[in-house]
Amino acid sequence: MSKRDYYEVLGIDRGADQKEIKKAYRRLAQKYHPDRNPDDDTSAEKFREVSEAYEVLADEEKRSAYDQFGHAGVDGQGGGFGGGGFGGGAGAGGFSDIFGDVFGDIFGGGGRRNPNAPQRGADLRYNLELDLEEAVAGTSVDIRVPRHIVCEHCDGDGAEPGSTKETCPTCHGQGQVRMQQGFFAVQQTCPTCHGAGQSIKVPCGKCHGEGRVRETRTLSVKIPAGVDTGDRIRLNNEGEAGLNGGPPGDLYVQAAIKPHPIFERDGRHLQCDVPINFIDATLGGELEVPTLDGRVKLKIPPETQTGKMFRLKGKGVKPVRGGPPGDLLCKVVVETPVDLSDEQKDLLRRFQESLDGSNSHHSPKKTSFFDGVKKFFEDMKP
Ligand SMILES: [Zn+2]
Ligand SMILES: [Zn+2]
Repeated sequence: MSKRDYYEVLGIDRGADQKEIKKAYRRLAQKYHPDRNPDDDTSAEKFREVSEAYEVLADEEKRSAYDQFGHAGVDGQGGGFGGGGFGGGAGAGGFSDIFGDVFGDIFGGGGRRNPNAPQRGADLRYNLELDLEEAVAGTSVDIRVPRHIVCEHCDGDGAEPGSTKETCPTCHGQGQVRMQQGFFAVQQTCPTCHGAGQSIKVPCGKCHGEGRVRETRTLSVKIPAGVDTGDRIRLNNEGEAGLNGGPPGDLYVQAAIKPHPIFERDGRHLQCDVPINFIDATLGGELEVPTLDGRVKLKIPPETQTGKMFRLKGKGVKPVRGGPPGDLLCKVVVETPVDLSDEQKDLLRRFQESLDGSNSHHSPKKTSFFDGVKKFFEDMKP
């Protein structure tokens, strides 16, 4: 059988550049593509011929050999159409090599995935809210997790036990079909078998052919001491069931710590506000402050100002990943007395009088502030 001239096959002249070659090939390959011309031997032959011509002319080295020696210059060079590539007729796998670089973008590249291959089930996430105390001490909680499990009745097969399956007539077992959308062909999951490649004659009575059933299970989760917001605990194989016998996914329990009325957490440290009255703040004294494991006494020195921090070492949180426990930071907030009797107010006025004339000495902060304000306004004068 004598072969047609490659330039003639692509309908281009001998001086055509690579862009023209590619363009011509694209046009003809679309026209004769087997997916557009099912069971049409003439088109399949044309497609083979066009592909062969393109493979030679798109390669500068092969092209120059062809220009010099004709078909004899390129026939039988390994790796191409001469060997196994196109030999067995228009089997879809055959042209993937050339197709890859020109058509990869149109046909979705990645190739088709075997719909019957085992697939791992999806991972699940469960958001778990914890009290600060639970998170610090660790706890065990029962959670209810809705998820898919493998159907026991059909063992995940989807078919009623004892019934048979047949190859899907729409996609011939491929699980995918190519749809023509205007100029382009788009690969889609087969609408008949939803990608399985097989159709079930008698669906399983329990899962209705899905192979999985929905189930809510109660799981007991051990929360290790020290977890913090955002930490995840993984429960192996407790996610969604796999498909076609694939392994299940994992379940991630993600912790979120609820706000606490007294303590604020910052990693392994805790912080709290401790209100004291101005007498204790002035004269000093002993306070009871809360910690997560009970009250402790805290000594306040005389002349303690509001905002002063006291650090109780080791009274914070022991981190979940190990290491020493953090600290508890107590912030002193001096409280203004309210609801005083006339007598008490009088005492305060007399106290105030006792301070008169020596303000700067008793209120260093106030004095330096008003000195600063005074200077500020003086500097503004021209
Ligand atoms: Zn199908
Ligand atoms: Zn079933």
